[in-house]
Amino acid sequence: MPPHHIAFGGFSHESNSFAPSQDVGLDHFLARRDRPPLLVGDELFDGLAQGSFPTTGFLRAIGPDARLHPLAWASGGAGGLVSDEAFEHVSGALLARLPAPGELDAIYLELHGAMATPRFDDPEAELLRRVRQAVGATVPIVVTLDYHANLSPDFARLIDGAVVYRTYPHVDRLACGEIAARLVQRLAGRGRVRGVALVHLPFLIPLQAQSTLTEPSRDIAAQSLADAGDIVSRCYAAGFPLCDTPWCGPSVMVHATNQATADAACHALVDRLMAARASFAVRLWPCEEAVSHAMRRARGPGSGPVVLADVQDNPGAGASSATTGILASLLRQDATDAVLGILWDPAAAAAAHALGEGARLTGSLGGHADAIDQPALAGPFEVERLGNGRFTTTGQVAGGNPTDLGPMALLRLGGVRVVVSSVRMQAFDPAPFHHLGVDPARAAILVLKSTCHFRADFGAMAREILLVEAPGDAVADPMRYPYQRLRAGVALRP
Ligand SMILES: [Zn+2]
Repeated sequence: MPPHHIAFGGFSHESNSFAPSQDVGLDHFLARRDRPPLLVGDELFDGLAQGSFPTTGFLRAIGPDARLHPLAWASGGAGGLVSDEAFEHVSGALLARLPAPGELDAIYLELHGAMATPRFDDPEAELLRRVRQAVGATVPIVVTLDYHANLSPDFARLIDGAVVYRTYPHVDRLACGEIAARLVQRLAGRGRVRGVALVHLPFLIPLQAQSTLTEPSRDIAAQSLADAGDIVSRCYAAGFPLCDTPWCGPSVMVHATNQATADAACHALVDRLMAARASFAVRLWPCEEAVSHAMRRARGPGSGPVVLADVQDNPGAGASSATTGILASLLRQDATDAVLGILWDPAAAAAAHALGEGARLTGSLGGHADAIDQPALAGPFEVERLGNGRFTTTGQVAGGNPTDLGPMALLRLGGVRVVVSSVRMQAFDPAPFHHLGVDPARAAILVLKSTCHFRADFGAMAREILLVEAPGDAVADPMRYPYQRLRAGVALRP
């Protein structure tokens, strides 16, 4: 059998429609952050050989027999809307490298599923439409998607199989890429898949209630399948509620060899979700109460830090990572031996580097660039440690990625040490803490700007975990989002 010709690439971003100050332009995709910058053509092989991206898993599993055609790959992480310029640039780089019609047996794309631009509610479907225009209507397309994908009917019809992350924290990105490689091999050269079913749940699920470390999400996500007889793939996507588009929210999508199988497999999982509807609930703590509880617990029996998750200032959901709500509360209550990260403040990091370690830094910290009204915190601060921000991640969510967060500083205010960066990164990995000489396991109180990913590496060390409702643009309660584009009839909570 001649080798299959397979094109591959990726374009992903998670768009928070309610954080306009975090909108991302082309520069964002061209800079190295906690992931590589835009890669084109052969750069994909070296650029994605390490790390923990789905494309890395795809490349490891696709096998030596495939003739690979690298396209382009860019990952924005999370923020506001992607600018139309950035969308056109990255899409253009990907489309320009597609072989001519008739030369391909299959395509693999690493997408997210919750990107939005000012022009497109569903830019990923738009990208797929253009790919189909370029390569012809019959080439099978397999995608990997984030667990937070918001899937549209157009999107489902444009692809032939999908692998959605089955974990939140997302610790299975590599594995999903490997599964996608096997699906691509199954479908290559066989034309389009005939059965497609997509059903949206009639409610949204807040991010903090989506963790697969607990029920009901653990059981639901485990029902996702790939390459199971007539079922090509069955995916549960929990949805990204902060993206104000018509098809926002949880859904089940099935691709199968025939429509009856797709419908049956889809409805079986939808029924399971509907039965679990009442159990998607998680308590959020008011800020002051969370801090006083943490201080009490930290003095009591047990070991490891009390972890306060600053869920609403999670940059991984498009927040600024610059709010000071919990920090101010720790200082007001005279907390000791507390560590907070990762606070985004390029100006404070630059000022600390200008002064040097051991200096006293006046001025203020955090609090700016938010859609919400959040004050900066007044100094002075002690510059305890400096770092150049270059390290390789070591955690389970996205380990092995060469990272550049720009100048970093460890600033001390009373009993609190703050890890400050010049580039935003969610606190899901211990490496940025170790980079500044901080062992997070030894803190009494550990404040992490993260909703759920932190659990993968900080969960086991935690004495107790509290999800805290402090100021931030990743508002936890969908009842408070000013939706304008969401389809009618969706309940904003389970
Ligand atoms: Zn996600």
